[in-house]
Amino acid sequence: MNVLVVGGAGYIGSHMVKMLAARGHAVVTLDNFSTGHRDAVVAGRVVEADLADRAALDALFASGRFDAVMHFASFIQVGESVREPAKYYRNNFANTLNLLDAMVAAGVTRFVFSSSAAVFGEPERVPIDEAHPKRPINPYGRTKLMVEEALADYDAAYGLRSVSLRYFNAAGADPQGAIGERHDPETHLVPLVLQAASGRRPSVAVFGDDYDTPDGTCVRDYIHVVDLCDAHLLALDWMAAHGSSGAFNLGNGQGFSVREVIDTARRVTGRPIAVVASPRREGDPARLVADATLARRELGWNPRFAALDTIVAHAWAWERTHASRGTEG
Ligand code: UDP
Repeated sequence: MNVLVVGGAGYIGSHMVKMLAARGHAVVTLDNFSTGHRDAVVAGRVVEADLADRAALDALFASGRFDAVMHFASFIQVGESVREPAKYYRNNFANTLNLLDAMVAAGVTRFVFSSSAAVFGEPERVPIDEAHPKRPINPYGRTKLMVEEALADYDAAYGLRSVSLRYFNAAGADPQGAIGERHDPETHLVPLVLQAASGRRPSVAVFGDDYDTPDGTCVRDYIHVVDLCDAHLLALDWMAAHGSSGAFNLGNGQGFSVREVIDTARRVTGRPIAVVASPRREGDPARLVADATLARRELGWNPRFAALDTIVAHAWAWERTHASRGTEG
């Protein structure tokens, strides 16, 4: 297949590019490099353009025949989305419509969308299945849900088939160590904990220890980036087989507290990790755990790297490469 990976220079997108190429697919990365890294794109052609630039999108779709588009290019910081909602509605929603419209015009009919557990908002029950009410509590989550809703309408009206994949907590890195997580600024727990282990940071903050959870810290469902990429490939097969659109929750179905993640990292790295008790972060639900039964049943998805130790070990190998290079971000 010939697959366009939008945001292929970012964390999850770059792992997708590598997997697609390894499976023998032709891949083109579209990225504006606002947050991505050129050297993270390890295969295929790279086109630098912004999703706001409809003419550039039309030219790209005219340049070759794409069987599918995978869309990873969005802003991901919840707190920033509250302070700067325009940035999120513009990029994550309006620019995504640009991409969808260019696809429709070019006759490309398969789309995989990086959605998020944030579409659910404060959970009414855990684990969270697809039938759980969708009431996002911040602009970030709203933009993801708005795209999901637009996709249902685009399927009905234009025959654009899509699969929305709602990631819980993406973590880990390429098992071969070629690429990994590199956000700047980094806000995610696993890389921050490992930067504290490698000495790139003095300590890691624990945001709140008085939640209604066994040890008082927030519980999350960490899922390996390669397992997320597997689901994208399966989603392409699913759309081809079913000729319809769908949305699936992706997680391991097992929750780990912030303290458990830190303890796992201490064990895996053999390094001390200093912790600073800090106030709660706004908008953090106490527990977010996926019920991914539907993805397993419908897509045939079966996470290969479900153990938190493995997720942390792969992320640690990547952090060590970085720490030894002395690179930032
Ligand atoms: N967290 C933390 N300290 C940090 C970063 C994150 O205690 O420096 C907590 C955060 O409050 C949440 C969990 O770790 O409960 C996972 O946060 P992350 O930002 O990695 O992912 P999110 O759950 O926001 O998607």
